[in-house]
Amino acid sequence: MSFFTHLECSATGQRYDRSQPHNLSEAGKPLLARYDLDAAKPALDRDAIWARGGGFWKWRELLPVDRDEDVVALGEVDTPLIDVPATMARSGGTGRLIVKDEGRLPTGSFKARGLALAVAMAKSFGITRMAMPTNGNAGAALSAYASRAGMESWCFAPADTPEVNLREIALHGGHVYRVNGYIHECGALVAAGKAAMGWFDVSTLKEPYRIEGKKTMGLELAAQLGWRLPDAIFYPTGGGTGLIGMWKAFDEMERLGWIGPERPKMFAVQAEGCAPIVKAYEAGEEHAEEWKNAQTAAMGIRVPKAIGDFLILRAVRESGGAALAVSESAIEAARVTCGREDGLLLCPEGAATLAAYQKALTDGLIDRDAEAVLYNCGSGLKYAMPDAAKTLDKDAAIDWSSL
Ligand SMILES: *Cc1c(COP(=O)(O)O)cnc(C)c1O
Repeated sequence: MSFFTHLECSATGQRYDRSQPHNLSEAGKPLLARYDLDAAKPALDRDAIWARGGGFWKWRELLPVDRDEDVVALGEVDTPLIDVPATMARSGGTGRLIVKDEGRLPTGSFKARGLALAVAMAKSFGITRMAMPTNGNAGAALSAYASRAGMESWCFAPADTPEVNLREIALHGGHVYRVNGYIHECGALVAAGKAAMGWFDVSTLKEPYRIEGKKTMGLELAAQLGWRLPDAIFYPTGGGTGLIGMWKAFDEMERLGWIGPERPKMFAVQAEGCAPIVKAYEAGEEHAEEWKNAQTAAMGIRVPKAIGDFLILRAVRESGGAALAVSESAIEAARVTCGREDGLLLCPEGAATLAAYQKALTDGLIDRDAEAVLYNCGSGLKYAMPDAAKTLDKDAAIDWSSL
């Protein structure tokens, strides 16, 4: 049974009924799901829940989906925490550096968490047509879960989105289009076509349940660490769903008595070529301006404008963390380091979090002996890799010492 009671505007606190689908609040802000945590507290046993299977679906009481038949599952798993001690040592750390490897989820990224919940809730409302803008991974997750639930999906991607992502969407049965614009411009297309196409808009934070799915990253992390949190979390921040969701999860767990009041420093990581949150953080602003000419190979964080900017900035500031921008060369170097030192292939966005960890150490934002968690948000295999192949002529004389 779910303890979900209602939705609340993240800016004004206005209440919204849970019995019908919603997008943004009347104030144009994201809606947050609220639960009866007082009733849940005596009823829920954190260890019994953690002992269940089903990956993120195990947290059913703290998720909005009520009926079993609305659950849409594709083999979800708890993603592993992988220590990367050699990478840590190379970076100058002496504590513990852990990668939470989200690439192991269905469709190869943590977008599965959010979209599974969004699709399940849409199913419960009888919605059959969904649309969204995507830099690749969100569309892959939407199309997979939508097809699984018997729904149709439309995805609009910036023209330079890697081909592999678009083909994945198409193979999942989604309708996919390249658009001559950035992700927020693709989002504007969804809004424009909504009435004519009868779409439900599942854009980042424009529907309330993707956050609930991403929240499970926080629940899972606490459980994996024995019901405590690390000193620092480095999160690759595009729309910020995961950072906002985890921050919400920590609050809910404290109210359930599952963890204490301690919190990790939250680091919102962006690329120097697209860093609207970092700019707003440094300027002391509550909202971020749209970033012009956004450029980074880390497509998942190439988000020039985030509707939840104030929620990201609030969480970062309350936590005592920071918003950090890293260069393209630091991202690429971090990817090489982690693969070579610890045998773990990061995606560029995950590598950005490693580069930010290195920067935080250098700048004294975290202690050398800190326990830090990096989110490797997607499988490194879905991204272009530097050309490295050499050839060998089997028929020629081989100088083995040259290999
Ligand atoms: C979507 C995405 C992000 C950004 O996640 P948000 O929670 O929306 O900020 C980062 N990396 C990858 C690989 C993504 O697909």
